[in-house]
Amino acid sequence: MKKIIILIVLIGISVPAFAQKSLDSYHSVLQSTLDRSIKVSHEKGYTIKEVKPNIYVLTDGIWQSAAIVTLDGVVLIDAPESFGQNIEKAIAEVTDKRITTLVYTHGHSDHIGGSKYLANIENLEIISLTKVADFLREQNDPRRLIPNRSFEGALVLKKGNKQIYLSNHMNYHSNEGDLFVSVPEDKFLMVIDVLAPGYVPFKNLDLSNNVHNYLKVFDQILAYDFDVFIGGHLTAIGDKEDVLQTKAYVEDLYKTVKRIHNSTNMIEIMGATAQKIGWDNKYLLFDAFLNKVIEDSYKEIESRWIDKLAGVDVFSKSHISTMLNYVRWDD
Ligand SMILES: [Zn+2]
Repeated sequence: MKKIIILIVLIGISVPAFAQKSLDSYHSVLQSTLDRSIKVSHEKGYTIKEVKPNIYVLTDGIWQSAAIVTLDGVVLIDAPESFGQNIEKAIAEVTDKRITTLVYTHGHSDHIGGSKYLANIENLEIISLTKVADFLREQNDPRRLIPNRSFEGALVLKKGNKQIYLSNHMNYHSNEGDLFVSVPEDKFLMVIDVLAPGYVPFKNLDLSNNVHNYLKVFDQILAYDFDVFIGGHLTAIGDKEDVLQTKAYVEDLYKTVKRIHNSTNMIEIMGATAQKIGWDNKYLLFDAFLNKVIEDSYKEIESRWIDKLAGVDVFSKSHISTMLNYVRWDD
C-alpha cells in the first residue's frame, strides 16, 4: 500500500475534483429531525397515522400517501410504488370502508406506481389532470393505472361528508402538472415534491422541471390556511413553519448563487485554467468557471444551513447547480 501511495505521489496522480466524499465524512441527520419522525417498523414496512379526524397518512419512511375516509368510501391520494402492496391492508386497520377514489397528484411512477395493486377494486374512480392522463396513456406503464376521470385547473371532489379541493396552480415539478390537495375544513394540505420537513429538498430542488415556478410555489402554499402539511417524502408531518423554513433556504440559494455568479470573473478563471491545459477543451474551461461558482456558493450555504436542516452536505451542491442553470440561463 505504501508503495502505491509513493508511486502516486511520484507520478503526480491527483484525486479528481468530482471524487465522492467518504461516506463516514457526512453529517448525521440532525437530532431535531430524527426526533419528529414517524417511526415505521422495519418488519411491517409501513405505518398509518391519523393526522386529522378521518384523514390518515400512510408511509414506509420514504414515501407518503394520504387516505381521506368519508361516509361514502375512502379517497386515496397517490399510491407509491414502494408500499403499494400494503395500501389496502393499512387502510383496513383504520376503517371498514373501501377505497372508491384514487387521486394522482402528478404522473411520476414513484408516487403512483403502486396503483397496479388496486387494479382489482371494482369501479375504482381514478382522477388526474388531463395532461397527466394523456401522458399515462402514452406511457402505457402497467404499474400506473390509467385515470378514468380527468380535469383541467381545479376540481372540488364532494365525497360523503368531505369536500376535497384539487388545484393545479402551476407546474412546479412535473411537466404534465402538479396538484395541490386540500381539505379546508380540516386545514389539511398535501403538496408533493416541494419539501421534506426537517430536511433540505431532494436532489436538484426536488427534481423540479421548472425552477421559475418552484421559486413561486412556496407563496402559493402559504396562501392556504393549513396546519398539517404532507409533502410526500420521508417521515415527518409538516406545518407552516416547515414551508417558511424551506422557502428561506431556497431564497438564500437563489440570492447567493446569483451574487456569486455575477461577481465571478469567467474570463479570468477560464484563462487561468487554459494556462494549464490550453484553449482546446472549451467545455472543461467553462466547467472550471461553473465549478468555482458552485464551490464558493456551497461554502456559504453550508455555513448557514448545516445546523438547521438535514442533508445539506448531501444535496445542497445539486441545488446550487440547478439554481445556477436558472440564474445563468433563465433569470
Ligand atoms: Zn415527482
